[in-house]
Amino acid sequence: MGKTIIISNRLPVQLQISNGTINAIPSVGGLATGMKSVHSGSESLWIGWSGLTDEETPPELEDDIDKALAKNGCAKVKLNAGEIDGFYFGFSNRTVWPLFHYFLEYSEFELDFWNTYKAVNQKFADAIIEKSDEDDTIWVHDYQLMLVPQMVREKRPDTTIGFFLHIPFPSYEIFRTLPWREEILEGLLGSDLIGFHTYDYERHFLSSVRRLLGLDVSFNEIYLDNRVIKVDSFPMGIDYKKFKDAAILHSSKSEGERSDLQMRLDSHKASAPDTKLILSIDRLDYSKGIAKRINAFEYFLNKYPEYKEKVRLIILAVPSRSNVPQYQLLKKEIDELVGRINGELSTVNWTPIWYFYRSLPFDNLIDLYTSSDIAWLTPLRDGMNLVAKEYIATRTDKTGVLILSEMAGSAYEMNEALLINPNNFEEQADTLKRALNMPVEEQISRNEFLQNRLERYNVEVWAKEFMRALNEKRDVSKAFISEKMSKDILNNIETEYSKSKKRLLFLDYDGTLVGFHKDPQKASPDEELYELLDELQNQENTTLFLISGRDKQTFGRWFLPKKYNMIVEHGVWISKEGHEFKMLEQVKGEWMAKIRPVLESFVDRTPGSFIEEKNYSLAWHYRNTDPDFGEKRATELNTVLRSLIGNDDISVLNGNKVMEIKSSNVNKGRAATRMMSEDDYDFVFAIGDDWTDEFMFQELPESAITVKVGLKKTHARYHVENTRRVRELLTRFAKP
Ligand code: UDP
Repeated sequence: MGKTIIISNRLPVQLQISNGTINAIPSVGGLATGMKSVHSGSESLWIGWSGLTDEETPPELEDDIDKALAKNGCAKVKLNAGEIDGFYFGFSNRTVWPLFHYFLEYSEFELDFWNTYKAVNQKFADAIIEKSDEDDTIWVHDYQLMLVPQMVREKRPDTTIGFFLHIPFPSYEIFRTLPWREEILEGLLGSDLIGFHTYDYERHFLSSVRRLLGLDVSFNEIYLDNRVIKVDSFPMGIDYKKFKDAAILHSSKSEGERSDLQMRLDSHKASAPDTKLILSIDRLDYSKGIAKRINAFEYFLNKYPEYKEKVRLIILAVPSRSNVPQYQLLKKEIDELVGRINGELSTVNWTPIWYFYRSLPFDNLIDLYTSSDIAWLTPLRDGMNLVAKEYIATRTDKTGVLILSEMAGSAYEMNEALLINPNNFEEQADTLKRALNMPVEEQISRNEFLQNRLERYNVEVWAKEFMRALNEKRDVSKAFISEKMSKDILNNIETEYSKSKKRLLFLDYDGTLVGFHKDPQKASPDEELYELLDELQNQENTTLFLISGRDKQTFGRWFLPKKYNMIVEHGVWISKEGHEFKMLEQVKGEWMAKIRPVLESFVDRTPGSFIEEKNYSLAWHYRNTDPDFGEKRATELNTVLRSLIGNDDISVLNGNKVMEIKSSNVNKGRAATRMMSEDDYDFVFAIGDDWTDEFMFQELPESAITVKVGLKKTHARYHVENTRRVRELLTRFAKP
């Protein structure tokens, strides 16, 4: 096994230059901690931006910087100030961040931002390609680098790549507004495994993939050419032990060891023992709903005035992205709100809101967490929200109440918290009251559940789970049921082909010789295909059959003049050497009158679907319907048909976006084996993409060479990726 390569916008170290020397100080953030198990030893490398632009990096220190980073298992991507502006402050934080947090009106669709984003993603990809080998495992992090997986895949088709998105993935209706939506999806689909915090984000992503790219999605797997991409949710945890231990240490501190902040909190408590502290901590970001929370607090104090002087709200807002205009406006709004409310409601003994606009050291965070009776976190949208988890982890005596917005990813795992809708002031006011009056036993029992879960699924487990799934994915891809048609296999088959004396070829048409088309009539054969088939047909000792579910009129029109052998309607009709179609199987068609009206009612209720009527079968096509709706209707139709069919000798085949109803005694496998028994063939070959071709793969003898087009479970021996590969393969037969 190769190395593990981690890629994120920022490296997990801070560079400090003082007196011409470089110091790299490891970060203590959650991600860096979680990745410790993944990023350790010489077998891993973390690639990212160092935090210093090219302009800020003295050229004579470049080597020292590289060395200092290498000591920490890191390598840098060099970015200049312009790139940081367009890529980070621009596309990442002014386009993607607001859009993915449902702030559509804040999202700026600037071509310059996008171009820089692409160029910088390419820089990251190039750094990975330069520093990695084919057998390395690559883990790309977050919304700044969504194009990287595909950029790496292009150069390293067989590398294992994982991607984790740390922010929400929005609903399709929001995502579709992005001008570069397809490119972003295609970028992400370079991965083998794509991870999200919650099932909802996963669901939204899959829906966008189906609707915007029209790809096949089955449960949480996406089929793209020759690859299966897995999508899953991995809710990120915290370094539980670190917070718990810090809280234990905190409670054992003597008076003299306490921080200034703690002493202030203590004296406040001593002077007003029945006043409760409500805490909120967030980066100053519009997604966190800070202004709304302050308004809701005012609403609460007006609705329940008996709590005036009995509660105090502590707001810690950490400065963030302060060069982005929206953040400057928000800062102003909050400053004014706090000023107004404190001005209006304060008394000699009481200020309702304590507001800190700064980042606090870890020990002070612990002071705040452990001193507050309630944590009140009301993001309007938040990928996860770790503060909620940290508050619970520090409650060593298990008291304390967490009020958490249901719009935070963490709400999915924290059901025992009091969950609220941040837009509902009435509910918030009532919930605050409930929290202030919650009996201690109830607090303990709720927090016990929460703590157990957080302790178990901590950030290290999160990272390990993701890596386990990624490695599993690598193994599954390798052990796919059919074998990939490699160059060696192809050479062997070609040798067998040329040595054989009598050959029989079965070629499926749609999805095999030609790609799918919205209108099946338009998927007609092209000149190149005719030439290829002519060459095979004219070869001595080669019997070629086109074998299809299509109707005999269409195939007759396309191929009868060419005198190709044909089996159509899954084996009902046969035509050899240009002769008219004859019935291969005796089938009855009376059932069709009964089934047709049922299908018609489905067509009426499912826009985009239509019926294809053949002589002895009916097909309901739903390729052009809304993908989710189409699948739902197909399931419904299946149920209806099965109850109607009863004991009749008809079967329902689920094809590629088509359901076909036909007599049971007819299938391609039966037709193919019948043809095979007519002569003494020493080379039998069958190729197809669909469910209906599986009959051939199953019923032909083991010596036959069977090939599936696409990566789906199959009875075929080999698989090739797409129709282009099919043509290359047949060309080898035609021109050995
Ligand atoms: N935090 C910090 N310094 C502070 C306040 C908060 O380092 O002064 C940390 C906090 O402990 C938490 C993180 O910032 O780990 C915030 O993470 P969260 O998921 O809540 O929000 P994000 O900022 O990632 O949107």
